[in-house]
Amino acid sequence: MSFFKKINLEDNNVTKKKFVTEKVDCLIIGSGPAGYTASIYTSRANLKTVLYQGLQAGGQLTTTTEIENFPGYPNGVSGFEMMEDLKKQAERFGVEVRDGVATKTDFSKKNHKVWTDDGKLIETSIVIIATGATAKYLGLESETKFLGSGVSACATCDGFFYRNLDVAVVGGGDTAAEEAVYLSGICKKVYLIIRKNYMRASKTMRDRVLKIKNIEILFEHNTKKLFGNNNLEGAILINKNNEEVRINISGFFVAIGHKPNSDIFKDYLKTDEIGYIITEKGNSKTNVEGVFACGDVQDSIYRQAITAAGSGCQAALDAERYLKK
Ligand code: NDP
Repeated sequence: MSFFKKINLEDNNVTKKKFVTEKVDCLIIGSGPAGYTASIYTSRANLKTVLYQGLQAGGQLTTTTEIENFPGYPNGVSGFEMMEDLKKQAERFGVEVRDGVATKTDFSKKNHKVWTDDGKLIETSIVIIATGATAKYLGLESETKFLGSGVSACATCDGFFYRNLDVAVVGGGDTAAEEAVYLSGICKKVYLIIRKNYMRASKTMRDRVLKIKNIEILFEHNTKKLFGNNNLEGAILINKNNEEVRINISGFFVAIGHKPNSDIFKDYLKTDEIGYIITEKGNSKTNVEGVFACGDVQDSIYRQAITAAGSGCQAALDAERYLKK
């Protein structure tokens, strides 16, 4: 972003010289299940479709261990493999999948413009935004070390791997409460680590958590470090008296919020206070004609691969109908 701001401010002509203009029928931004599914539908509907993969090709699923809850994979599948399959399927129908990131947009006219970091200025009447959301992490070095081997940001995705084991959830909001409740049905014990002396979650969720016997809430605790050899074995916490508390756990679920990847669209698209793009009820239309949003960038509730894929399909069908109109 800063690169574009700089050149725009200094000399608009540089922008014109630097970027090669290209016209496509449909531009899809994002390569998770939403983006790929949308691209399969638009390309099969004969729309010349270009898909930009974004910073994390394949999206959030490439950081999960194994996906066992996506219908059609009786033995489960790794996130990476599923994304590779989706990519191949999209390319089979002619989708041009590119490494690259959309860095700037102009949705002020019907001919939408999107600039990319590979030097293209793409002009199109259809943009499908599937840029997803990024789970927030604590930022500990040890957390990065165990990502995919003990650390997860999705209990529904990874909880099953910790059945009958002890785990911890960090966070005090509705997501953390939901994750703790979900894990309590699978795991032996769930520690809920909350940095304040109260839970921010809604009263209904707080009450549910408090009733469950195998959830132990650790108020006013912060995580200092995770430890283990190849797999996670425990965490060292700091309590309000500045004392170290050691817990033995096999799974550490971070539930401190998500950040929808919507920054470059904010000048044109309506978002909620967190940044989720607002779409019309029951469809994928944004407040700008010809711009559609699907997957986690517009979904703060379900956030599943299958719901993202479903909404990608909806976005493609909405786009086709818009063009026919
Ligand atoms: P929230 O922002 O509501 O909560 C984040 C939690 O993480 C807070 O308890 C916060 O602590 C804690 N936290 C943040 N940073 C850190 C940190 N560095 N270390 C330790 N703890 C940290 O996020 P949610 O994802 O829970 O919810 C987002 C929105 O989605 C909310 O509006 C929520 O109501 C909604 N939602 C609704 C659901 C439903 O209706 N079924 C389900 C899930 C979410 P602190 O309180 O101290 O700031």
